[in-house]
Amino acid sequence: MIWWLAGLAGLGAAAFSARYHWWRPRLPGAPVLMYHQIRQDLENTPLPKLRVPPQALARQLEVLERRGYQVMSLGRALEAGDGVKAAVMTFDDAFKDFAQNAWPLIKARGMGATVFVVTSQIGGHNAWDAGKGIPRAPLLDAAEIKELAAQGVEFGGHGHAHRDLTAMTPQELAEDLSACQQTLTDLLGQPARTFSYPYGLFNGAVKKAVAEAGFSAACTTRPGMLSARTDPLAIPRIMVKRSDGALDFALKLSRARSRW
Ligand SMILES: [Zn+2]
Repeated sequence: MIWWLAGLAGLGAAAFSARYHWWRPRLPGAPVLMYHQIRQDLENTPLPKLRVPPQALARQLEVLERRGYQVMSLGRALEAGDGVKAAVMTFDDAFKDFAQNAWPLIKARGMGATVFVVTSQIGGHNAWDAGKGIPRAPLLDAAEIKELAAQGVEFGGHGHAHRDLTAMTPQELAEDLSACQQTLTDLLGQPARTFSYPYGLFNGAVKKAVAEAGFSAACTTRPGMLSARTDPLAIPRIMVKRSDGALDFALKLSRARSRW
């Protein structure tokens, strides 16, 4: 009887360990969290994981605050270095719901964030998703970007056309990145420092071209932590998914992953 119970407990523990990666080592450095849309509804999207409800974001900000993180933009975290217990909020694609659903929660807590803009689509929609069954969603317009920047939001580049940068010719690559930087510079009155690779795709040539366009830091979608040893043009990030529970979020802050 005892052995039977022990066996059952062992099976339960194995299932728990397969689901939650508590056994991974804790990683030093700052978590750079990656979000896309902050909205409750799913609207038949094939990518529900990319839509985090506002209530979940609010809970996550509370957890970060309670655990003593200083929640800031990527630029601020890079300046602060390893001496600060930082967590970074990043939002890819610059959806309009950032202004409506995310920034009020972040601003109210005195925190910061970085938003990565697809510069050919400012005030438009996610045209790069057309034909993939992904619903259209509006993006921040120029006036909103300026207003949010004045309130402290850091804006970075996410490509001019949200294309796979690794599939471009050297000339296309240089043109896309310089158009991206020029558009942001015109809008914000100063060059953007940070960048996020569309689809997380990059290689050595892309990194070089991003730096040549004047961006000094670029985010990937590879999991890991930001520290003084991180290549600033290959910053790892942690995707926060709609399905993440409290344990997932806690594991991601300490281990960069919660499960596969
Ligand atoms: Zn994107």
